[in-house]
Amino acid sequence: MRKLIKPNYKAFIIACIAIVAILFATYSFNIGYAIKIDNQVVGIVNNKNDVANLKKDINEKLEAKLDRNVDIPQNITYERVFKIGEEILSKDKMITKIEESIDFSIEAYILTIDGKDFAVLGNKEQIEDLLNNIKLKYINKEVIDINEIGFVEDIEIKKAYVNSNMIQNIEEVKSRIEIPLKQVKTYEIKKGDTIWDIAMKHEIDTREIERLNPNINIDNIQIGQAINLTFPRSVLNVRIIKEHQYEEKIPYETTYEESSELYEDDVKVKIRGKEGKKEVISEIVYINGIEENRQIINEKILEEPKTEVFLKGTKERPETLAYGNFMPPSRGKLTSRFGPRWGRTHTGIDIGVPIGTPNKAADGGKVIFAGWKGSYGELVIIDHENGYQTYYGHNSVIKVKEGELVYRGQVIALSGATGRVTGPNLHFEVRKNGQPVDPLKFIKY
Ligand SMILES: [Zn+2]
Repeated sequence: MRKLIKPNYKAFIIACIAIVAILFATYSFNIGYAIKIDNQVVGIVNNKNDVANLKKDINEKLEAKLDRNVDIPQNITYERVFKIGEEILSKDKMITKIEESIDFSIEAYILTIDGKDFAVLGNKEQIEDLLNNIKLKYINKEVIDINEIGFVEDIEIKKAYVNSNMIQNIEEVKSRIEIPLKQVKTYEIKKGDTIWDIAMKHEIDTREIERLNPNINIDNIQIGQAINLTFPRSVLNVRIIKEHQYEEKIPYETTYEESSELYEDDVKVKIRGKEGKKEVISEIVYINGIEENRQIINEKILEEPKTEVFLKGTKERPETLAYGNFMPPSRGKLTSRFGPRWGRTHTGIDIGVPIGTPNKAADGGKVIFAGWKGSYGELVIIDHENGYQTYYGHNSVIKVKEGELVYRGQVIALSGATGRVTGPNLHFEVRKNGQPVDPLKFIKY
C-alpha cells in the first residue's frame, strides 16, 4: 500500500500544481480593463498598457486635429474586470469611442462689448483683425496726426474654453457689428451752418431733419438752436481724437460815440469795423467720422479785429426834418398800382378812401406846391430836401400853404375826388431826383 501511495502523492502534487496553473492561466486570460468616463463604463480593453495615459493621448490627438488647446473636464479611469462574454476593444477603437463620448472644451476667444459677451471666435487674431478693419474705415489719407483711435465702447478679448459648437462664424459676427443703429441726438447750430451742410455731414437728408424737428422751421435756423439729428451708430463705434490747426475769423465789436453834429436818431459810421484773424489748435473728437466735440487747446491772434465806431446824433431834431423813410400817408385799400395803366404810366399808387379822410405827410419837409394841377386835382407836393418829393392828389380840402414846413404825420389835406378820377381816392406819388418811383418800395399796403 505504501508503495502505491508515494507515487500517487507525487502525482497529486503535480496535478494540484497543474490545476492551479490552469486556473491561474484561465483567470489571467479572462481579466480585462473597463474604461470609465466619470464612472460610466464605455468599453473593455485587454491590456493594462493600453489604458495608461489614455486622457493625455486623447487630448494630444484632439489638439492636433483642431489645432488649438483642448480641455477634457471628465475623469477617465479604469477597473479590472472579468471579460468573459464581453466585447474587447483595441486601443484605437477605444480612443475613438472615448472621443465620441466625452464633452471636451476647446480654446476660444470671447469678444466682450461693455462687459457683455458679444461673440465667440476660434482665435484672437480674427477678433483683432475685425476690430482693426472697423477702425480703418474711418482713417483716410488726409488724417495723419491722429492722437488716439479706439472705440466708444469698452472692448475686451477674453480667453475661454467653450464647447466647440459655440464658436461663431466670423462673417456672421461681422454683420452683427455692422448693423446700423439709429441714435437721435441734439445738435447745436453753429455760426455758418446751413441745413444742407448739416445734412451732408451727418449723411441724412433734409426731409429727415424736418421730420425729426416738427417745431423748427429748417429754412430759418438760428445760431444756438438745438435740432435733433440721427447719428450713424452701430454696435461698435470708432472714436478718433485728432488735433487740428486752422485759422478763424475774430468778429469785431461795435461802439457808439455821441455827436452833436448829427440830429437825434441819426447814426453814421465813423470807423468801419474789420474782422481779425486767429490761429486755433483744437482737439476734435470724431465718432464714426463725425465731429462730436471740439476743445480749443491754443489760440494765437494773427490780426486783431478793428472795432466799428458809430456816431449817434445828439443835436435836437427839427420836427419837420425828414427821417429819410416814409410812413403810409393814409389807411385804405390799394386800388391801383404804380406802372403802366390804360396805355400810359401811372406815376403813383391810389388808395381808396372816403371823401374827407385825413391825408398825412409821409415824412417831414417843405410844401412846394399846394393847389389845383390838371388831372391831379387839388394837389400837395412836399420836398423832403433829401432828393425825394411826395405828391398827394385828388384832395377835397388842402390844409397847408406853399413854403410851409411840415412834420412827418402832419395832416396836410383831406381826401376827395378832384381831377381825373373814377372815385374818391388818394393818389400818392414818390419822386426821386424828379423821377417817379414805385411808392410800394417804401411803404406796404
Ligand atoms: Zn393815381
